[in-house]
Amino acid sequence: MFRSIFRQSNYEYSNSVTKVKIAISDDAIALTQGLLQTTDTEERHDLSEQLLDELSDLAGIDIVEFVLVDDNQIHKKRDGKIVMKRYGSYRPGDKMISIHNRTAARGQILAPKSYVDTLLHEWLHHYDFKKLKLNSIHSRGFYLRLNDLKDKLQIPREKYDQSR
Ligand SMILES: [Zn+2]
Repeated sequence: MFRSIFRQSNYEYSNSVTKVKIAISDDAIALTQGLLQTTDTEERHDLSEQLLDELSDLAGIDIVEFVLVDDNQIHKKRDGKIVMKRYGSYRPGDKMISIHNRTAARGQILAPKSYVDTLLHEWLHHYDFKKLKLNSIHSRGFYLRLNDLKDKLQIPREKYDQSR
């Protein structure tokens, strides 16, 4: 009984928060714009680490560990077609974000906009857990918060990718 009430309120709370409460810095914007302009793996890694640190500092929460894996996105095939792929992951227990840097099928380096989308998506899970004390789920509110974060980081709207 208690548990089902808790789950419902977690969902309702996740849905009700549509903005991220962060006073975005010029550094955060510059790092994001840098990421949108590079496909170089080392630069991508370094800018990502700095951006994640900056965002967590601005939000007043613990920083995250970050791993950029030089391998294809984890995926499953059925009859030769990709039926599932995972863009990235966040593990709240050890505060770890992990992103595979290559596309599932062809193993090409991810395009900047897909990459940045995945990075911010995973960091927002961290924000949900640590700042909002939520069990972070993919509610409509989650995607509204993600869009708000992207607006604050001045990512052009046409670069939004809500495919996951
Ligand atoms: Zn997610």
